[in-house]
Amino acid sequence: MRTAGARPENGVIRGRLLVLATGAAYHLHRELDLGIPARFVQTAQVEVDFADTAEVEVYFGNSVAPGSFGWVVPMRRNGQPRARIGLVTDREAEGYLLRFLQSAPIASRLGDGMPERFHRRPIPLAFLAQTFGERLLVVGDAAGLTKPTTAGGIYYSLLSAELAASTAQRATEGQEYSAKFLSQYQRAWKARS
Ligand SMILES: Cc1cc2nc3c(=O)[nH]c(=O)nc-3n(C[C@H](O)[C@H](O)[C@H](O)COP(=O)(O)OP(=O)(O)OC[C@H]3O[C@@H](n4cnc5c(N)ncnc54)[C@H](O)[C@@H]3O)c2cc1C
Repeated sequence: MRTAGARPENGVIRGRLLVLATGAAYHLHRELDLGIPARFVQTAQVEVDFADTAEVEVYFGNSVAPGSFGWVVPMRRNGQPRARIGLVTDREAEGYLLRFLQSAPIASRLGDGMPERFHRRPIPLAFLAQTFGERLLVVGDAAGLTKPTTAGGIYYSLLSAELAASTAQRATEGQEYSAKFLSQYQRAWKARS
């Protein structure tokens, strides 16, 4: 198996069991014949200088983020008030974020200058048909495990990691890494979702 993150000298990593936890990055899925989630939403977010506030703000409506919502999350960096401003939408996340930043309630509180780069990332909205295989378990966004209502995936990534760890422990104890044995992982997360 080749991976981008771990870099052994010959580019190949060998192990008894692989846990695929690559988030919403699916290049290894193709090598492993896993397919990819059938549905995605898009996100775009920036961190900017922003007027001091303690309130998290949530914005709805087709003009802000069709199909989902936008947010302003205040924070401080080096003592300076800043905010993460972003949105989830079913299309054109960058364009909608630019318009959101230019809208009156946001633009009036932005520091100088429009940010040059937005962080963009897809979030899967459908799980893989199979989240296990021969010596393989797939967790979190890599498995497409998110909440379909808000696209939140933190809870499911932690839950699936915990269930995968329990399955991996049983596999290691019994030296049993077949797809049939590891399928108990998928039954476990399905029973919890
Ligand atoms: C803008 C935005 C806002 C969000 N807000 C919320 C929220 O409020 N609540 C919520 O529940 N969820 C939210 N989510 C979704 C949430 O972030 C994800 O569902 C969650 O982080 C998934 O966890 P994960 O561990 O599966 O993947 P990730 O957190 O994406 O972690 C995967 C890691 O694997 C690394 N990686 C990828 N490929 C390789 C490789 N080949 N080798 C080594 N490492 C690799 C990546 O760099 C990354 O560090 C948000 C997502 C975005 C983009």
